[in-house]
Amino acid sequence: MLCSVPLCGRRTSGWSRYCPAHKTRHRRHGHPCQTGVTKLELRPFLDRVVTTREKNLRNPVWTLLEERWADLVESCHTYLAGYLSGRTASRHQVAASQEIISLNDHVAPVEIIDVVGALVLMRQWDPRRFLSDRAFIHQVARRVRALTDVNVGTTYDHRAGRLKRVYRDIPPRVALLVGQWLTEAFGGLGLWIHGMDRERERQQQERRSAIQQALKELR
Ligand SMILES: [Zn+2]
Repeated sequence: MLCSVPLCGRRTSGWSRYCPAHKTRHRRHGHPCQTGVTKLELRPFLDRVVTTREKNLRNPVWTLLEERWADLVESCHTYLAGYLSGRTASRHQVAASQEIISLNDHVAPVEIIDVVGALVLMRQWDPRRFLSDRAFIHQVARRVRALTDVNVGTTYDHRAGRLKRVYRDIPPRVALLVGQWLTEAFGGLGLWIHGMDRERERQQQERRSAIQQALKELR
């Protein structure tokens, strides 16, 4: 069987619809052709979120978003406690809850809020960078998990003769849950900033055309 990705042409592996390379990417990024959003790519959007925060320090939104994070952490603790006391629980939801709690132990909430806001903002400006909703959600989970070293392991690189840092992946269904929870909680921030920027752009455009029009009428 040939890989289901158009023009790939390689053979599928096992029962997968994809060749090994596309299979890995599908598992890791939620789509066989999605590549990971890098820290560098996200930088301008993150800067935009941070500027907005600095300009609006007195706005209650930041506290409200942090409270939302605390609620999410709390509900994960409750879920885990239920599971530990023998209640039926989904294996993936248990793992996703542990991920959230681990993030809470190692990362400041504001950093998580900013990264999720930045990714949503990035998607608004460059929708084609994300090949599906699922691929987007995966990127949210990846970039947030990358905020802490806990999710990085080391492996010995024989060719370079030294230890190499590698990102420790979580199962796709766990990544999807984590990404979904984070996007639901903080995605609105990115949408709101995008709306503001669009409006500003529109006003500038209007001013430019007004000037053009006025220039034409000069005599
Ligand atoms: Zn392929």
